[in-house]
Amino acid sequence: MTQLYEIDGYHYIVDLTPYFVLGVLVIALVCAIAVLVRRILASPFRYPYYVARFNVSGRRNVRIEDYIDRHLMDPASWDAIVAHRAYIQNWKHEQEEYLKTCRLRSRRERQYAEAVDDDRAFRFITCRDQTRYKQANYVKTSYKVSMDDSELDVNWEWIVERRSRLAAINDEATLRDYHAKNQRRLMTKQLREQIARRDNYTCQICGKYMPDGVGLHVDHIVPVAKGGKTVPSNLQVLCSKCNGRKGAR
Ligand SMILES: [Zn+2]
Repeated sequence: MTQLYEIDGYHYIVDLTPYFVLGVLVIALVCAIAVLVRRILASPFRYPYYVARFNVSGRRNVRIEDYIDRHLMDPASWDAIVAHRAYIQNWKHEQEEYLKTCRLRSRRERQYAEAVDDDRAFRFITCRDQTRYKQANYVKTSYKVSMDDSELDVNWEWIVERRSRLAAINDEATLRDYHAKNQRRLMTKQLREQIARRDNYTCQICGKYMPDGVGLHVDHIVPVAKGGKTVPSNLQVLCSKCNGRKGAR
């Protein structure tokens, strides 16, 4: 890389390569410093959200609250939520300790305040598997991706309140099912079988044993008409005779 100059009738050939190299180095250095400064100034706080995903592939009329209720009723999940709550509290405590001694303190305090997101600390997401196709070399192959469907973000108080409402009904149903107007609709084949197995296919009034299920009724102890719920504690096995007698009363 050379440049020809003419000064007072003399021609000079100047090799510009060293200047070019120096220029590139300076630009690289400036860029590196800019990246470093950006990194130092960026927020170091990452709020530790609790995230639970529910795969609702193939299901219709999905209500995320039902999935959250079942999640809260599951002992292992509940333990995980409580542990995560403690983790968040601990994380906040650590960050607040750090803020007392850190550099760029006012900037860090502002960034911390922006990062803390207690009102949305617990994130529940429903997702669906979707089949996608890609074509390469005339061969079509399918692969699955998980797409988020809906999301509900809540705070710890919401969780505690929900959990206590579920506990009040002995974790027997989701809150929506428990308060549903049409309790008969909630009587499923699986629930029927569950109650029959629990009561050992035996009429709970006369003791008739019906192992083949013939004449076996699953009865609401407190009738639906009187506010009885379709939950295991309000269901029992009866034989046709006892069921008929009960209905006549
Ligand atoms: Zn009976």
